[in-house]
Amino acid sequence: MKVVTHIQELTELIKQHQKKQHSIGFVPTMGFLHEGHLTLAKEARGQNDILVMSIFVNPLQFGPNEDFEAYPRDMKRDQRLAEEAGVDILFTPNVKEMYQGEPSITMTVQKRTDVLCGKKRPGHFDGVVTVLTKLFHLVAPTNVYFGLKDAQQVAVIDAMIKDFFFDLHLVSVPTVREEDGLAKSSRNVYLSETERQEAPALYRALKKGQTAVEKGERDPQRIYQLVEEELLQTSGEIDYIEIYSYPELDQLQQLSGKVIIAIAVKFSRARLIDNVIFHVPESGEKHV
Ligand code: AMP
Repeated sequence: MKVVTHIQELTELIKQHQKKQHSIGFVPTMGFLHEGHLTLAKEARGQNDILVMSIFVNPLQFGPNEDFEAYPRDMKRDQRLAEEAGVDILFTPNVKEMYQGEPSITMTVQKRTDVLCGKKRPGHFDGVVTVLTKLFHLVAPTNVYFGLKDAQQVAVIDAMIKDFFFDLHLVSVPTVREEDGLAKSSRNVYLSETERQEAPALYRALKKGQTAVEKGERDPQRIYQLVEEELLQTSGEIDYIEIYSYPELDQLQQLSGKVIIAIAVKFSRARLIDNVIFHVPESGEKHV
């Protein structure tokens, strides 16, 4: 595995692989790797000639009162895990390398961001698409891998790829969970012992909502109540519970088609997000 910190070295390596017509799988991350990231890497490893992973905690996607400074980092451990996962090139630029001076152009996401985390974290997705535009140009991937744990991010990236004709294929990977259902996240280390015990309630709440829909409930308000009931059992503060079509993230009067139930809960030092995405059978359509 080559660990690369400079853009020039990265692009030289990429050019060599392009000459050999290698397909390039790319997994962008913010590091502090866990099984979620490694599952994306495993999938990418199996589907491409070479595997590039980036580790970059992107300041542009953090709000002024968010956890940019406190975001967990452990580069030594990450390098070991990346190597074990079969990464060929690990790109770990610093902030100056990625943001060289004042930008002349900024990007603003227009759709799919006025809800969920986009609403709660203004500018977050502008930061995400900015850094990904840079990374996609540098890595020139054939396939890019993102986790559905960040389902709104996948929806925004899907729109960005289509709007800007990025010549690459987006692969979305199901959420990887702990045995008790908690979605794996770099931020889980900031849960206290009690909060960690409470945290599986997020997935339980989502499954309760999904099960009710599968049993025939079609009123989003009723689903909201069921999810809320379960989340209120925790000491966390509910940031949002929302239900939309997916990936468009449009409001629904009646549940139908592909829908997402998504939640965010603030614990003392960590804000956790989770979601379920599923197809709502038309009335008369049999659920399988
Ligand atoms: P992050 O380092 O949090 O920016 O995550 C990097 C990539 O890993 C993103 O595409 C995430 O959606 C994905 N990811 C993070 N946690 C999980 C998880 N529990 N399951 C699947 N993918 C994940």
